[in-house]
Amino acid sequence: MKTITRNAYAKINLGLDVTGVLPNGYHEVKMIMQNVGICDTLTFTGREDDRIVIETDDGTLPVNEDNLIYKAVMLLRRLTGDERGVTVHLEKRIPVAAGMAGGSTDAAATLLGVNELLDLGISREKLQEESVSIGADVPYCVLGQTALSEGIGEKLTPVAAPPQAYLVVAKPDIYVSTPVVYKKLDAKENYEHPDIDGMLRALREKDLDGIVSRLGNVLEIVTVEDYPVVDEIKKLLLDNGAMGALMSGSGPSVFGIFKEEQTAKDVCEKLAKANLAKQLFVTTFQNGENV
Ligand code: ATP
Repeated sequence: MKTITRNAYAKINLGLDVTGVLPNGYHEVKMIMQNVGICDTLTFTGREDDRIVIETDDGTLPVNEDNLIYKAVMLLRRLTGDERGVTVHLEKRIPVAAGMAGGSTDAAATLLGVNELLDLGISREKLQEESVSIGADVPYCVLGQTALSEGIGEKLTPVAAPPQAYLVVAKPDIYVSTPVVYKKLDAKENYEHPDIDGMLRALREKDLDGIVSRLGNVLEIVTVEDYPVVDEIKKLLLDNGAMGALMSGSGPSVFGIFKEEQTAKDVCEKLAKANLAKQLFVTTFQNGENV
C-alpha cells in the first residue's frame, strides 16, 4: 500500500487583534500568523476497505469523528465522492489546546496528504477555501507561510517572513477555553489594539527589532487575568534576554524571541527549574519549507 508522510507545523501569532463581532457571534480578526519548527508527523496509508482509521501516540486525543483529521477526510469525501479508506498515524508533539493550532495543522496536513495519496487532484487553493468549514485556523495551515489573516481567518494574504531568530515556546499546565476568552473580551469596554499595519511594515523591511516592538495580542490581557502564570512566564523570558515575548492565540502558550540560541536554551532551563511550564521548546520560525 502507498504511504505518504507529512510534517504539520504549529503556528504562533506575532499579532492578534479582534476588529468586530459578526451577527452570528463569530469574531472578525486581524492576525499575523507564523509557523514555527514544532511539528506533528502524520503518515497516511491507503486501505482495502472504506474506513477512516486514526492511530496516535497521544492517548488523550479522540480517534473518532471528533478528531480534526477525521473531519478533513470527510471534507475530501464531500468534495470528490471518493470513499476509499485511509489509515492516518499521528505522532503528536504540538501541545494540545495551547493556542498553537495543533488540531488545525493536522487537518491541513490531512487535506494535503490524502489529496496526494489518493490522487484526488484538488488544488491547494480549493482546499484552502473549503477548509474553513473545519476550523478558522485551517486555511492558514493549508497555506503554510507567513500571512495576514482577516475575516474569521479565511481571508489570507501572504506576507514577508520574519528574519531568522530563536524562540522559546512554553505551555503551562492549564486549560484555557477559547470561547470563554472571546466572551470576556467582548465584555471589555475598550482595550489597546496591536499595531498590525506597523508589524506588516517591519516584516517587509526584515526589521526584527521593529517586529518585536509591535508584538501584541488582545486576548492576552483576558487570559492573564485568570491565569497569572502566563505573565510570570513572560516576565521570566523578558528578564533573561528575550527581545520580546507574547502569548499565542487564546493561550496559554507563551513564546519569547531571542537573537542567540544559547540564551534561548539557558532560559528554557530556568523555566523548567521554576516549574512554570509543562512543555518547553527551543525552536525557530518555520519559513516556507512546509508548502
Ligand atoms: P487553536 O490555536 O486553533 O485555537 P488549540 O491549540 O487551542 O487550537 P488544539 O490543540 O487544536 O487547540 O485542540 C483543541 C481540542 O481539539 C482538543 O481538546 C482536542 O481534543 C481536539 N482535537 C481534535 N483533533 C485534534 C488533533 N488532531 N490534535 C489536537 N487536538 C485535537
